[in-house]
Amino acid sequence: MVAQREWFEKDYYKVLGVNKSATDSEVTRAYRKLAKKYHPDANPGSDERFKEISGAYDVLGDAAKRKEYDEVRRLSRSHLGGFGDHGAGGEAGFNFKLDDLGDLLGDLFSKGSRPSRGSGPQRGADLEAELHLSFEDAVNGVTTSVNVTSDARCHICLGSGAAPGGTHTCARCGGTGAVDDNQGLFSLTMPCPECGGSGVKIDRPCGACRGTGVERRSRQVRVRIPAGVEPGQRIRIKGRGASGRNNGPPGDLYVRVHVAKHRHFGRKGRDLTLDVPVTFPEAALGAEITVPTLGKPVTLRVPQGTSSGKVFRVRGHGVPSSNSAAAGDLLVRVHIAVPNKLSSEETTAVEALSKVLRGSPRRYLDWNDKTGGDQ
Ligand SMILES: [Zn+2]
Ligand SMILES: [Zn+2]
Repeated sequence: MVAQREWFEKDYYKVLGVNKSATDSEVTRAYRKLAKKYHPDANPGSDERFKEISGAYDVLGDAAKRKEYDEVRRLSRSHLGGFGDHGAGGEAGFNFKLDDLGDLLGDLFSKGSRPSRGSGPQRGADLEAELHLSFEDAVNGVTTSVNVTSDARCHICLGSGAAPGGTHTCARCGGTGAVDDNQGLFSLTMPCPECGGSGVKIDRPCGACRGTGVERRSRQVRVRIPAGVEPGQRIRIKGRGASGRNNGPPGDLYVRVHVAKHRHFGRKGRDLTLDVPVTFPEAALGAEITVPTLGKPVTLRVPQGTSSGKVFRVRGHGVPSSNSAAAGDLLVRVHIAVPNKLSSEETTAVEALSKVLRGSPRRYLDWNDKTGGDQ
């Protein structure tokens, strides 16, 4: 109740010089007039007064806050037997009881049935969202938006859970939300068991939220995904979770990233991988081959005598550099492709090659040499 403690002590209506039944625009008009008059720029030494006026308008200028403020004032009067409104002497008694009152009201509100009530600033919940990215966007980074669905105060009943006009004042407590429990010398005040301390009974629940006072609302949140995000990675976006209650800070949004597979490329951290087939003559004689990248194709020089499975590094064609990491590379693994069907022309050429090679390279292997083995 820290943020609301002042509410017990200060009559904001008096501060702004308006009636309790003043309309929103009357409140705003009164505030503007006073703010102009007491603005520290125009009127040095009036800082305190200006602060007081701003503080009052912070609450009365916000319909939801004003409603809560009114309720706190109403409850505090009923609990304290009218101590509050009786000048200086009364104020002393009022202050004396503040701690108890704070506890009592906090208790009362937390037991109340309305979800919009909290007993102080509450941080909003952390939320989770899923984001599906293409392979390219995960590599290069992207700014996109995610759809986030979270609980929010029902926009029809403003969290009360009641249909418009669907309430009546609680008969048990007469709308004060509290009842007296006489125990000999002491008269204890407790939250009304009939209405749960809200002071009203709901006849017809709000249709939009089915009486819960809470609705699911979705919104788009823009997220900047850094280059090189890994599949399954959770990205924290500070302050974009559910909004806090009673001026509490918002929670965070966690975006879990899913990355689509690529037909040709793979990923190893900041490096991209690619398998490229070459012919036996290209591997044996050396060749310049064109290989794709995520950008423009590049030329790769395959040196003479390259064996199948050899990996070549094409610098700077992996994940782009960022301020936290250097650019990755493209790792090209060549393998010698063996055609499973040959044309007659190809068959003639391969047969000629075979004649020349005469079973090489097995020629040079000594299968009977056991050195280096177990026996
Ligand atoms: Zn509702
Ligand atoms: Zn009641």
